[in-house]
Amino acid sequence: MLGHKVKRFKEYPAVSLESLVPQKNFYRHVEAKLDLSFVRELVKENYAATLGRPSIDPVVFFKLQLIMFFEGIRSERKLMEMVSLNLAHRWYIGYDLDEPVPNHSALSKIRTRYGLEVFQCFFEKVVELCIQAKLVWGKELYFDGTKVQANADIDTMVPRFYWEAKQHLDSLFAQDQKTGAISTTQPIQLAPPQTNGTPRGFEEKYSGERIPTHRHHWYERLTDAQVSTTDPDATPMKGSNSDKAVLGYHDHYVVDGGKARIILAVLVTPASIMDNSPMLDLERWVRFRWHLQPRLAVGDTKYGTVTNIAGLEQDGIRAYLPTSNFSDRTTFYSLDRFRYNTERDLFICPQGQELPLYKRSYSELEFVYRANRDICNVCPVKAECTASKSGRYLRRSFFQEYLDRATAYRQTEAYKKAIRKRQVWVEPLFGEAKQWHGLRRFRLRRLWKVNIEGVLIAAGQNLKRFLSRNGWGKRHFPGDCNVALALPELPLLLF
Ligand code: SF4
Repeated sequence: MLGHKVKRFKEYPAVSLESLVPQKNFYRHVEAKLDLSFVRELVKENYAATLGRPSIDPVVFFKLQLIMFFEGIRSERKLMEMVSLNLAHRWYIGYDLDEPVPNHSALSKIRTRYGLEVFQCFFEKVVELCIQAKLVWGKELYFDGTKVQANADIDTMVPRFYWEAKQHLDSLFAQDQKTGAISTTQPIQLAPPQTNGTPRGFEEKYSGERIPTHRHHWYERLTDAQVSTTDPDATPMKGSNSDKAVLGYHDHYVVDGGKARIILAVLVTPASIMDNSPMLDLERWVRFRWHLQPRLAVGDTKYGTVTNIAGLEQDGIRAYLPTSNFSDRTTFYSLDRFRYNTERDLFICPQGQELPLYKRSYSELEFVYRANRDICNVCPVKAECTASKSGRYLRRSFFQEYLDRATAYRQTEAYKKAIRKRQVWVEPLFGEAKQWHGLRRFRLRRLWKVNIEGVLIAAGQNLKRFLSRNGWGKRHFPGDCNVALALPELPLLLF
């Protein structure tokens, strides 16, 4: 017989939220194992000591951020709707059945009030908890980055001079309005927080502006001339599913080599900042912030620049970084056909001729060696060696000693194992963040806000490992997001 459910609700006597939430609920476990009272200390500078209405408890604010992370919710309006209806969420934030939950608009105001520094401190506190729980090994560092789409369309790009002029005019009119009548049509804007005080200050250094260098000053990037009006910090990058460019950011992770794969540092930069650029800054920050002495640092070919290899080696860390082999790209004799004489600082060519030091190129950080043009021009194998009429040139890096050391590592089994391990260490973390926690596309706009989003996602991923270690075991996380946690275990069979 066809059933027909009629809505008929009984009037229950008074019930307690405490009794309605099951003892084995996930949020009971979080409440028992994660004491968030430290956040009051982090944010107390942002509030007046005595005056004004009491704010939303910062512990409640961060609990809401964690619910958003665990449930994979992408909108604060949706979050507050869900929290209002969900008994476990209400219990976790401490709001009784008949208590109205905070308005969603309060969350963005609080985020602006706190600024990036508070969220960065929250991330660091979570890493400290992981260190105390002995989840951090600290002997190996794994570097990787991923593209994250911005919450802005590529079609919103306009000439930069137009945008800057408009910004200037807007600020002028805003000043006029301050001195004249108060406008009631203008919404009150809270000033974005200064990022000067962030623990690393990397957000400013890698803000997308040109990092001063004497190299390639003639090269103009698209973002030098154009800017998005929706998210001026996002820059064009290749879309993951199509050839069409999209606006986006790079999310950089430094991950510990221990089994728990704790994220030790996170940084979001505009997509115009390459993965390899902040590597040394992040490595040094990780070492000094967490008092670690890693033996080796591992990255893919993108990280294998001369600067990174030399910097890591100078810091006493083995640079397990592959480099591109450019010698295959020439039809002439490659560098390995020439023998370098260390004592005399010159190369010997396959014909036994000497290539002494010709000059130093400080822009390329290389020594340049040149053979005698008169000898080369009559050489029987010149067609295979060079097309130059002024003799064969060779280049040797100022840091060749470190590059040779890195090349020697590549023959070792330890290097091959580390490179295999990297593929299953960091990339699944990005997969987890994209699949379950909204890292495929940022929901906020501007660099400081997407850094807050990136920092919260990384902190949440670390907390999942922390909670698993503290008794949650293999049980489901909300939103089934522990499936991704299990994924990296499979390829470990490779070792
Ligand atoms: S071209 Fe010059 S450098 Fe090259 S093999 Fe001949 S002599 Fe040597």
